[in-house]
Amino acid sequence: GPIVDGKSSTDGKHDVLCPHDLSRVIGKMKWAGPKDIEKAFEATKKAQPTWDEKGGVARADILREMGNKLEENMDFFIALMSREGGKTLADGVAEVREAVDFCRYYAHEAETHFNQPTRLPGPTGETNHLSLHGRGTFVCISPWNFPLAIFTGQVAAALAAGNAVIAKPAEQTSFTAFEAVKLFLEAGVPKGVLHLLPGDGETIGAPLTKHKDLGGVCFTGSTEVARLINKTLADREGPILPLIAETGGMNAMFVDTTALREQVIDDIVSSAFGSAGQRCSALRIAYLPDDTADMLIDGIKGAMDELQLGDPALPSTDIGPVIDKDAETTLVNYLNGLGKNAKILKRVAPDGLPEKQTFFFPTLIEMKNIESMEREVFGPVLHVVRYDPDRLNKVAPQLEAKDYGLTLGIHSRLESFSREVRDAVKVGNTYVNRSMTGAVVGVQPFGGEGLSGTGPKAGGPHYLQRFAVERTVTVNTAAQGGDPDLLNLT
Ligand code: NAD
Repeated sequence: GPIVDGKSSTDGKHDVLCPHDLSRVIGKMKWAGPKDIEKAFEATKKAQPTWDEKGGVARADILREMGNKLEENMDFFIALMSREGGKTLADGVAEVREAVDFCRYYAHEAETHFNQPTRLPGPTGETNHLSLHGRGTFVCISPWNFPLAIFTGQVAAALAAGNAVIAKPAEQTSFTAFEAVKLFLEAGVPKGVLHLLPGDGETIGAPLTKHKDLGGVCFTGSTEVARLINKTLADREGPILPLIAETGGMNAMFVDTTALREQVIDDIVSSAFGSAGQRCSALRIAYLPDDTADMLIDGIKGAMDELQLGDPALPSTDIGPVIDKDAETTLVNYLNGLGKNAKILKRVAPDGLPEKQTFFFPTLIEMKNIESMEREVFGPVLHVVRYDPDRLNKVAPQLEAKDYGLTLGIHSRLESFSREVRDAVKVGNTYVNRSMTGAVVGVQPFGGEGLSGTGPKAGGPHYLQRFAVERTVTVNTAAQGGDPDLLNLT
């Protein structure tokens, strides 16, 4: 249940199901209510100033300890995420590592930028200092597809910058968030500073974003919900608050005839179908050259035959389930609604999957163009479009017109082609001659533009500042009888 002021409830009623076998209830979670919201805000209001005054070095020590604790509990989290979130073991390993990286990276950033004021230049007889401080209480709202990494990353960043945090995880993966908050508290985050309020978006998420004592919102999820939160914040009385929103994408890869066949096929299949396509960065549209498209499509089909679907807790499984029945229904409806513009080329349909499950078979669709694609298709569905790489200007504007800007893939041996694609399609993260997923903290700071997000990039050097207020102090030292720096001159 909720964790408020260090206390958690255990009388949960809400069944949390295992996505690959819906007959298994992995636990019961108690949703937070209006009283929990009030209690959490009262506690953060009291506790945040002391947390902020602690400074970046003291907060960094606690975040590093959280990183260590996550590492010590790696096996536990991999098992929990495979049961609750349908994550394969390999995805689980990468996810725990990413959560650890976030803790350590933001710890370093807090030490560097949040520990003491920076001295600025100014005229003789005056000192000028700039310092960064927490904004108050941040509400962190996260999705189910990275139940540990994104959850931990948002919370660690807000804490590192000196904020108190009220975290609202996705309803599907509340247990993973519960265990992560327990570890944050064990690592030394004061109980008044961090609270967990599980529950659904409308009944818990929405009231949190309306609260009078809110200092800012960090959100990762769909573009639609980001818009709702943006409207709610705009309608509030009082200070105008920051919204950091990381949202979905309509991600494409452009291949030319100089690309290496095996490498392209491997990267397309892993980028589109890995994690059952439930990554915001996943490849949705592969533009294949007219001249080599048939050969590449044959290769993709062959590689799809090798994909092992099944229980995500088995080491042999490549692709687990989609998160729940709603997600599966949305994908089925999408396939049923495909118009004349599209043709299904292949669906992987293995035998022997459990009856009560939410598997959606990886699907390859050929489209003439992407005009009919209105929004992100969040699952293992890859669209291919044939095109002439010498006429990039015929297809790139169609993609740009969708206004998303998250990830982009390019496969080519020609630097000029790569540059041309990058000039034509503006996105947050571009990957050349490799897969398009798996951004590493501090190495590929992650996040999009346009409909894909507000920035700044998670795991990047400009992230923490967005969680902070900046204050300057100017002192007329002449009024104290002179500038001590000048007196010290020899
Ligand atoms: P979602 O938008 O449905 O839900 C995200 C969170 O918002 C959940 O915790 C949900 O309970 C909450 N929520 C729902 N309605 C709300 C409301 N009215 N007010 C406040 N909170 C509310 O997204 P999802 O299905 O959990 O996640 C998948 C989406 O997340 C995809 O679109 C994916 O592309 C995106 N995503 C983006 C990134 C990124 O970094 N850009 C990373 C991961 C996922």
